[in-house]
Amino acid sequence: MANSYFQTNHLVGKTRQPFPTKLISMDDNVVAAKKKKAAPPITTTTTTNKRPRRVTRTKPKCKEEEEVEEEATTGVDIEDLGFCRNETLEIRASLLEWYDLNQRDLPWRRISSSDEDHDKDASETRAYAVWVSEIMLQQTRVQTVVDYFNRWMLKWPTLAHLARASLEEVNDMWAGLGYYRRARYLLEGAKMIVEEGGVFPKTVSALRKVPGIGDYTAGAIASIAFKEVVPVVDGNVVRVVARLKAISANPKESVTIKNFWKLAGQLVDPSRSGDFNQALMELGATVCTPLNPSCSVCPVSAHCRALSRSKQHTLALVTDYPIRVVKSKQRHDFTAVSVVEILESQDMIEELQSDGRFLLVKRPDEGLLAGLWEFPSVLLGVETDLATRRNAIDKFLKKFFNLDLKKSCTIVLREDIGEYVHIFSHIRLKMYVELLVLCLKGGTHVLHEKPDSKTMAWKSVNSEALSSMGLTSGVRKVYSMIEKFKQNKSKTIPGKAREKKKS
Ligand code: SF4
Repeated sequence: MANSYFQTNHLVGKTRQPFPTKLISMDDNVVAAKKKKAAPPITTTTTTNKRPRRVTRTKPKCKEEEEVEEEATTGVDIEDLGFCRNETLEIRASLLEWYDLNQRDLPWRRISSSDEDHDKDASETRAYAVWVSEIMLQQTRVQTVVDYFNRWMLKWPTLAHLARASLEEVNDMWAGLGYYRRARYLLEGAKMIVEEGGVFPKTVSALRKVPGIGDYTAGAIASIAFKEVVPVVDGNVVRVVARLKAISANPKESVTIKNFWKLAGQLVDPSRSGDFNQALMELGATVCTPLNPSCSVCPVSAHCRALSRSKQHTLALVTDYPIRVVKSKQRHDFTAVSVVEILESQDMIEELQSDGRFLLVKRPDEGLLAGLWEFPSVLLGVETDLATRRNAIDKFLKKFFNLDLKKSCTIVLREDIGEYVHIFSHIRLKMYVELLVLCLKGGTHVLHEKPDSKTMAWKSVNSEALSSMGLTSGVRKVYSMIEKFKQNKSKTIPGKAREKKKS
C-alpha cells in the first residue's frame, strides 16, 4: 500500500479511540463470526448504554445497507461488510459527477486523459506518465511532484528514453525526493520492459512482474491507462472507505488491507475505472482529509456512516476513522561526517575559499540510499565525543584512502561545524559534521594508491561540480553548512592558515 497517508496521519493524528470503542474489528474476526449468532455482542460506549437511533434518510435503503447499519452499532466482522447495489451505483454516479467538475488540473492527467484512442504509442505514453507520477506521489506532496514530473518528462518523454538513462542521471533527477530505491526501480523497470520487446504491460498481473510496481501502482496504471476494471487502495482510499463504513479495524494489518481492496473493488465503476479510482483518491486528498474533512460539500455524504454516527453522538467524530496506529519507535543512529577538501598545493592554503576538491564516496548498492554519493562518514554505535569521532574518521581515511593524517598530509584546517538531524521514515540520523582541509604531501596521486580501491567507489569534485550534482537532501544540507561556515570565517581562516604555514 502506498504509505504517504500513514506517514501524514501518524504525525498529526489524535489519540482518542473511535466511538464506540468496538464497532467493527478484524482483530478478532474469527471469534466474532462464531459468537455473532450465539449471543448478542457487547457494545462499549463512552456516552450512553442506549442503542443509537437509526439515521433518518429520504432514500430507501437496501437490505444489506440496513443490516450493516444495524450491525455497525453493535459489532460486526469487517469481512461481512460490503456495498449493496444501490449504494454502489449512487456512490459511483455522485463521485464521478463531482470529479468531472472538480478534478485538479495536473500535468500527468493531461497526458493520461487525452482523447480516447487506440494508438499504441499514446496509451503507452499514458501508462508511462501514470507510472512516473504515481511513484513520485508516493514520496511527497502533489505541488512538489509537479515540478519533478515536468522535468522528468522533458528529459525522458518515453519509456525508451528512460531505459537509455544511467542510474547516476536518474538519481540526479530524483535528488530531494527521497526513497532513491524507487527511482532505481523505475529505471530497472523501464530497461526490463524495453529488453522484453518494449510493450508496456497492460494488466495488473503483468505489471506486478515489473520491478518496483506493487499492487497500488499496478492498479493505477492498469485502470487509468488501459481501463482494466480494478481498484486502487492508497491512504486516501483507506480513509474514505473507512469513514463510509465506519471501520475501526487496524488499517495496517494485512487482513484489514485485504478487505479495503475488496470494498474498493466493489465500488470501482466498470465503464470508467480509471476516472473512478482517481476520483476516490481525489476525494480523500481534497475533501475527506485526515483532520478537517469538508463533509458539507462531500458528494458521498449520504452514504457516510462516520458522518451519520457523528450526528447521532456528540463525542463521535468522522475523524475517528480510520483509527490511528501507534507508530513503531524510530531507530536513533549517529554518524561522523567529514567533508574532506583537498588543496592541490600549499599555495592554496592562503585562499581557503578557492577551489579545492571534495572527496565523495559511493554508498553500497544495497540498503539505505543505495548507490548514492556522500561525504566520507562513519556510523557510530552511540553518541560519542569529538575525539572519538575524529579517531573514527582518521581510521576510515587511513583504511580506504591510505591517508595518514599525521604523516601523509598537512592539516590546513579541522573544524567541528555542527550537528544535523536527518529523519528517514524509520531512522533518526544525527550527523556530526566536520570540515577537514588537507594538503597532501606528494600530491593527490597518493589517493589512487589506496589499498581498498576495488571495494569502494569514490571521486573528488570541485565545488562547482558538487553544487550541480543531484545530491541527497542530507548531503546537500551538510554541504550548505560547510558553505555557511566558510562564508562566516572567510576573513579569519586565511590568517590562521598563514600562521600554520609559517609554523
Ligand atoms: S461525509 Fe465527510 S467523512 Fe464522510 S466521506 Fe464525505 S468527507 Fe469523508
